[in-house]
Amino acid sequence: MMAKKQFKAESKRLLDLMIHSIYTNKEIFLRELISNASDALDKRYYLSLTDENQRVDKSELKIRIDLDKDNRTITLTDSGIGMTQEELENNLGTIAHSGSLEFKQKLEEGTSDVDIIGQFGVGFYSAFMVAQRIIVETRSAQSEQGYSWISNGEDGYTVSPIMKETVGTKIILELKEESEDDKVDQYLDEYTIKNLIRKYSDYVRWPIEMEVETT
Ligand code: ADP
Ligand code: MG
Repeated sequence: MMAKKQFKAESKRLLDLMIHSIYTNKEIFLRELISNASDALDKRYYLSLTDENQRVDKSELKIRIDLDKDNRTITLTDSGIGMTQEELENNLGTIAHSGSLEFKQKLEEGTSDVDIIGQFGVGFYSAFMVAQRIIVETRSAQSEQGYSWISNGEDGYTVSPIMKETVGTKIILELKEESEDDKVDQYLDEYTIKNLIRKYSDYVRWPIEMEVETT
């Protein structure tokens, strides 16, 4: 285990805004994670066409969503390009993406349109609207070593080396507590998820499979 690192100040402000905001539109977290997985699959596919050491069967390139009602987790697994340790820290430790910045400005202006969030690519951090802790396990196509990134979104993150046999990224969302004002348990329901995929991610050209844990 490595020492806990702090988010950059800008990132932290955006996170606070996002986590403590009152959006009704939290559901867009799924669109954001699927879009990242899809981008990662595009990159891996491109690499496989341009580097003969990186060949991969196209049928292996996909996104899987696992819903675990007992543990209250949603897990997205992709066989995309993955991230090196450096990429993990740079990509998930900072919010420097245009969509996020624009989003933050709108928030700070106090825009009344509650649907504003739907217009931006707010990115990975939007998952903290529904998750109290996020575990990312990833292995880059360029590396033998996997890494985990773990954060509660509030006080930084840790990055540690892990065993990971396959290239790609797994994102485990440990959902927040269900409450009257925060109905997060709906995201453990396969029909809710299927509808969200249909609503926001219909254009994704990689297969999206779903597994539901039943007891
Ligand atoms: P954006 O997609 O606009 O770049 P995000 O906040 O959604 O911003 O993601 C930040 C970065 O983290 C991505 O650009 C990408 O480099 C990396 N990333 C996120 N999810 C994944 C994933 N599933 N596989 C590989 N890289 C990822
Ligand atoms: Mg994104």
